[in-house]
Amino acid sequence: MWELLRRNDAEARPTGAAAAIARAMIPEGEPVRQGDASTVQAAREILAARMGTAGVAAFDALAQAVEWTAVARRGKRFSKLAGPQQEKVLYQWAQNEWSRWPFLLFSGLIKGAHFDRPEHFEAFDVPYDRSGRPEKARWTRQVLAPEDVDDGQVVECDVVIVGTGAGGAVVGAKLAAEGYAVAFVEEGLYYRRDSFEGRALPAHNEFFRHGTVALGNTVIPVQVGKMVGGSTAVNAATCFRTPPWVLERWCDRLGTRELAPEKMEKYFQEVEATINVHAPPSFALGKAAEIFFRGCDEQGWNHAPIRRNVTGCTAEAVCEFGCPADARQSTDISYIPRALRKGAMVFSGARAGKVVLRDGRAAGVEATTLDGKNLRFDAGATIIACGAIPTPALLLDQNLCNSTGQVGRNLSLHPATGAAALFDETVRGFDSVPQSYFSDQFLRSEGFLLAGAQLPVDVGGALLPLYGDSYLEATRNLDRMVGSTVITGDEYSPGRVRSVAGGRPLITYRMTRRNTERMRAGIVRLAEIYFAAGAKKVYPLMPRMPLLESAGDIDELRRLDVRPSDFIATSWHPLGTCRMGPDRTTSVVDMSHESHDVERLFIVDGSTLPGPPGVNPQITIMALATRAAERIAHRV
Ligand SMILES: Cc1cc2nc3c(=O)[nH]c(=O)nc-3n(C[C@H](O)[C@H](O)[C@H](O)COP(=O)(O)OP(=O)(O)OC[C@H]3O[C@@H](n4cnc5c(N)ncnc54)[C@H](O)[C@@H]3O)c2cc1C
Repeated sequence: MWELLRRNDAEARPTGAAAAIARAMIPEGEPVRQGDASTVQAAREILAARMGTAGVAAFDALAQAVEWTAVARRGKRFSKLAGPQQEKVLYQWAQNEWSRWPFLLFSGLIKGAHFDRPEHFEAFDVPYDRSGRPEKARWTRQVLAPEDVDDGQVVECDVVIVGTGAGGAVVGAKLAAEGYAVAFVEEGLYYRRDSFEGRALPAHNEFFRHGTVALGNTVIPVQVGKMVGGSTAVNAATCFRTPPWVLERWCDRLGTRELAPEKMEKYFQEVEATINVHAPPSFALGKAAEIFFRGCDEQGWNHAPIRRNVTGCTAEAVCEFGCPADARQSTDISYIPRALRKGAMVFSGARAGKVVLRDGRAAGVEATTLDGKNLRFDAGATIIACGAIPTPALLLDQNLCNSTGQVGRNLSLHPATGAAALFDETVRGFDSVPQSYFSDQFLRSEGFLLAGAQLPVDVGGALLPLYGDSYLEATRNLDRMVGSTVITGDEYSPGRVRSVAGGRPLITYRMTRRNTERMRAGIVRLAEIYFAAGAKKVYPLMPRMPLLESAGDIDELRRLDVRPSDFIATSWHPLGTCRMGPDRTTSVVDMSHESHDVERLFIVDGSTLPGPPGVNPQITIMALATRAAERIAHRV
């Protein structure tokens, strides 16, 4: 009797209720181990590290809400319900519009923590930790960490560049090659390949910016890198030129031919040669590409391998967690070493907080290192290249460049969703590149791009909005799963970045009806491709419709009255918040990337794109940065 009471009491405690939820969410079934109290403990530890006690308290409160609201709905606490009833409760939480997002975050954390275990990687014969490979020799004397600098140090240079991603590194390397003294200030640290374990959780803790979530009529996590190399060091190495018709559209809107395809051609060529862009060999394309192409052929739709910026790729599918082979030619591997050879310096772990003004002109920046030291950079030209989320936040904090109120507006996200599919054949997406194929059949006509997105063990485990037996069926067969993404065009740019609490970004974004429809249309097309290729089941990233058992179910998806929050969406491509243009009332910088308001202050990153390109943007940003270097060289 006492034993029974004690057990009941334990279930009612926060971790007891959460453990019951974890058990119901993730049932036992080889090779997947059942969720339990240790799963919950791991999830709470992740939250404690990222969000402190407030995060853990919110997690516990949600577990209690699931536990006790079951009494009203089903007459018993959640932990006392039978398995099938528990499953129904979990789906109700995921499908109800009001509880969906908190619950998806809660359940994604539990699943992600559970699958970040060595035994789940071993079950699929995938290495758990890829770090520690022998390093290649590299010239790093000019890359300084916080411990290498002195408090109050003043650095004199021709050009200071804040940020080392697709914009900053490229413009900096070009200016260094012209003979200018270049100093890079980078908030993230310099990581080498022996740091890259190849798993989502450690990577997101170390190499990504935290707290970048767009809020509005849905919730969209915005992924942004924070390390030397910026987002290029955690991206999928997908390389698309800006489609010519997009460049034409920009020219029409801006009333200038400066970005016309024939004028941009030489910049694309130079970037592609520098970062070695080419089509992947067939071993790297993988089985998933073969299946996708088969499905597209059945439908009569175009498809092709994606060109990538890699040298010696080992096809380990972990590009987005840092390349353990140093194969991806991200800017820390390509442009930054070029700049170092020409004498540039990188101050890593240093956050620029203020642009220094002298006689109304930009004259450098002030920065603070991770260990609290203050640095000042005195420069003839100041280039802000922090990316489309931090750049406007930094400027707005000082109310700079904003005389016409344009800074932070026009945010586009290319919001992306997707679907996975289960096949009889072995796919092993973990042994190919994560994004190796695409179809732009619907890009111009319907506004979305279809591209590969293989599911690593830990991401696949966390992402699918399934619970109980159907979740188990999907996750125990991750080696027979093909994943793809739908990237939406987003041409209305309906978002905004504001600055709060010392330059921290607050992101708002309203998903338009049109983009919502595109997400559904994209998932419908993926389901058609998959079933045509022989899929057994299709798993849309849609909590309201997470499973299609046959091609016949696609009609139900076509008829569903969809809302923005019906899709698990994410953004890898925030753009446009300080856009360029000749007209100062609709743009922040001119066609040479110089601020309309502040002389010698330049912005060279994804924020200056005149509109979303509709395809993955790194080549567009790098080509524009190459062009910007020519213009800025005349102004230093
Ligand atoms: C997970 C992921 C996958 C992607 N996959 C692809 C892909 O396959 N193909 C593609 O074309 N694009 C991809 N992208 C997008 C692409 O990488 C980015 O669009 C591009 O890198 C943006 O360049 P940027 O210069 O604007 O900013 P970033 O590359 O993000 O660089 C900005 C840098 O500035 C630093 N910084 C910010 N604020 C400060 C400050 N105050 N002080 C000092 N430093 C600061 C940041 O730490 C960062 O290192 C992906 C992005 C992500 C996150």
